[in-house]
Amino acid sequence: MPPPSPRRDFPAFPFAPYQIQSEFMSFLYAALSSGPRALALLESPTGTGKTLSIICSALQWLLDHRDAAAGGHPGRAGGSTAAASGGGEDEEPDWMRDFTPLLPKKESTKKTKPRPARRQEPRKAAGAEDDGEDEFLLDEYESDDEEGTRRQAGKRAHCGGGGSSSESEDDGDEEEEEEVTPKVFFTSRTHSQLSQFVGELKKTEFSGKLRTVCLGSRKNLCINKDVQKLGSVNRINERCLELLTNKRSSKIKACANQVEGDNRKGSRAKTSCGCPMLAKRSLQKQFRSEVSDHGALDIEDLAQIGKKIGTCPYYGARDMVRSADLVVLPYQSLLLKSARESLGINLKNSVVIIDEAHNLADSLTSMYNSKITSSQLRAVLSHLEAYLDRFQNVLGAGNRRYIQTLTVLTRSFLRVLTRNEDCSSTVTSMTINKFLFSLDIDNINIVKLCQYLKESNIIHKVSGYANKLFVTQDGVNDLNHLQQHDEGSSIARFQALANFLRSLLNCNDDGRIIVARQKPGGQPEDAYIKFVMLCAEKTFSEVTEDAHAVIMAGGTLQPIEETRLRLFPSLLPSDIKFFSCNHIVPTESILPIAVTRGPSGMTFDFSYGSRSSPTMIEELGRFLCNIVAIVPEGIVMFFASYEYIKQVYDAWTASGTISKISKKKYVFREPRNSVDVEVILNKYKGAIQSCSKNSGDAVNGALLLAVVGGKISEGINFSDGMGRCVLMVGLPYPSPDDMELMETIKHIGNYTSRDDKSFISNDECKLEPGFGILRKCNRSGQEYYENLCMKAVNQSIGRAIRHVNDYAAMLLVDSRYSHTSSSRSFSCPAEKLPQWIKTRLTCGQNYGEVHRLLLQFFKLNKQIR
Ligand code: SF4
Repeated sequence: MPPPSPRRDFPAFPFAPYQIQSEFMSFLYAALSSGPRALALLESPTGTGKTLSIICSALQWLLDHRDAAAGGHPGRAGGSTAAASGGGEDEEPDWMRDFTPLLPKKESTKKTKPRPARRQEPRKAAGAEDDGEDEFLLDEYESDDEEGTRRQAGKRAHCGGGGSSSESEDDGDEEEEEEVTPKVFFTSRTHSQLSQFVGELKKTEFSGKLRTVCLGSRKNLCINKDVQKLGSVNRINERCLELLTNKRSSKIKACANQVEGDNRKGSRAKTSCGCPMLAKRSLQKQFRSEVSDHGALDIEDLAQIGKKIGTCPYYGARDMVRSADLVVLPYQSLLLKSARESLGINLKNSVVIIDEAHNLADSLTSMYNSKITSSQLRAVLSHLEAYLDRFQNVLGAGNRRYIQTLTVLTRSFLRVLTRNEDCSSTVTSMTINKFLFSLDIDNINIVKLCQYLKESNIIHKVSGYANKLFVTQDGVNDLNHLQQHDEGSSIARFQALANFLRSLLNCNDDGRIIVARQKPGGQPEDAYIKFVMLCAEKTFSEVTEDAHAVIMAGGTLQPIEETRLRLFPSLLPSDIKFFSCNHIVPTESILPIAVTRGPSGMTFDFSYGSRSSPTMIEELGRFLCNIVAIVPEGIVMFFASYEYIKQVYDAWTASGTISKISKKKYVFREPRNSVDVEVILNKYKGAIQSCSKNSGDAVNGALLLAVVGGKISEGINFSDGMGRCVLMVGLPYPSPDDMELMETIKHIGNYTSRDDKSFISNDECKLEPGFGILRKCNRSGQEYYENLCMKAVNQSIGRAIRHVNDYAAMLLVDSRYSHTSSSRSFSCPAEKLPQWIKTRLTCGQNYGEVHRLLLQFFKLNKQIR
């Protein structure tokens, strides 16, 4: 089938597009036509109509592609699923050598069996049924090599244990809807970005033409009040799964009774439980039909419809994926392989659009990280011991052996956290193999153990029994006790162990184990073991190899070379299609200045060694006192850390600087707690709005002190009066003492210096912290470190210009931003600013010049608006 012809016109665009929007759409359309296996990066600053351009070009291509395919079958590229695993370390456990990654199973091999009737007797003897603890007993479990001919296949399969989301009281066979292909998957980081996408989609004709489904989390979609009130994402997920698992096991029990000849009427109805919002399959069907009739709906709309009908919108939406043309979903759901499998997402031949892709490699690796603290380990160990103590006489041999293995492993992990061979370092890093050998647990087959954890329901049974032990004397389950720990409920702790064990199945070179022991005088929670994924390439290749095309879009995607090296190193730079456009705001609407000196002529230097100097803080305060008098409405001032804001704020309070600033602006500080951020932001916005209404006031707006990398710098919109000026104090380099960061830098360095023997060895157990590593590492590693800093700067200052009529000044307060400075950093940081800011950057060599430029800028913009 020939690809659709190139296009210049996009009739679905709801108004006359700007030239850059037309170019963006044509480029994206052509990139999709060049598939299969097309990869394109499109960069377009925030406020340039990027989302609408994506919708109108990608969905137009989908329709054209289908038109072209009409009368024939769309070409189905035989995408390779091969994911060659690297590794290659001679020394590795035997089970790891034999291990081939667990492949997704369409139909999971059942290894659990309903408990046979003859096991009732010993249980009674042990008193299990007398005190109502039967529900915590595990079904018998047999692993692969133990099954042999004894496997009684089929019995359980009739009992609904397959994990369908729509198990129901009124179940009857329902035909699975046909998979629509190709389809478009659009993913972004947050729910609000996805809602914004759906909002833009509604402005186009595609909203009614194509079947769209928006996937959200249970936290956003759950309508079971008892579950919803648990509050946190983890607890809601756990409770929901628990309800569904209970239901499944109830069905299994009922089925087992029937197998054993117990055909008492109503026995199934009595034992069946689960979430009432999934009780009727007919309501799920009604949900799907109502959603289809409405056109594009966002997560809030889905929740409303679910509430109205009285059926679960979370599972309702999941069931619509197969028949959808467009699936809108969060990063985790698309990029995590396990999530794709659980949602039944098939990327074959589809178009994948990843928005906000500026930090994709780091986002991807962090999804595969896993961490367990010593207090979580201790809790899991005590729960396992209590469970074994209570049920060991009635458990089958398979369960007993695996539970004992889990206790051995948990004890080993705890031992490594308390053992401190080298007092000079509490944090060490090692490869997976080194970790396993050093703990003497290399003989344990982690593959089978993980399979057991996945298939046996052990997590729910052991955690459920542990929760029962918390029942207080008056019979109330002391959930408060369980929930007061941030580290989660019993299930969450056990799940943390399961996730960590699963991480150990990764290739030796793809990640590192960080062991952080408790510091003298520190808290037990400070001690943890963490798997840090370093390799993004393999997980991303699972997406690119299946999809017809992958589009990465963002405000700025620089540096492209770093992205290429980390996500698709096998491609040549010339294989990657790259589009970049300028901002649509006119030149006179932004004023970026590198501010090198303060009002008294002092050179601004906020590097680590100088930023705490009282004279530097004082000079910054003097500068700010001048700025607040010139800039109208809102000013957002970014600092490198909460600690530094506190230090500066305290010094300014003591010196009277805050009082002086308060005569011109209301002053607010970003709180650490993200719940309070909302409150402070509302006050900040309210203060600016009240000043605009009372123009005679001496106070003419508000000042917000914020943190780079905090909530405000990442997701908040400071358009118009909310941000007439953004100040960036210094260069927010991440701490070089961060072990994970240093491991990532080493890993990135190794892409280009695999033979460099002077470089730190991969298997090295102790890392030289801090600048030592940066000095030793090669140019790619250093670049990555600098890029992290400048990406954070770009994210923060980009908050202020959000649409074509917006205007704002951007003050980069540090002499290192100046092109002419004898920079101590690896290169001039200003080179890494987005093109539309870099080309307009002015270097203010003295304060007088900065003052003059600001006065002119605000006077001009006041006149022309
Ligand atoms: S099935 Fe749906 S409504 Fe019920 S607990 Fe789970 S997410 Fe909530």
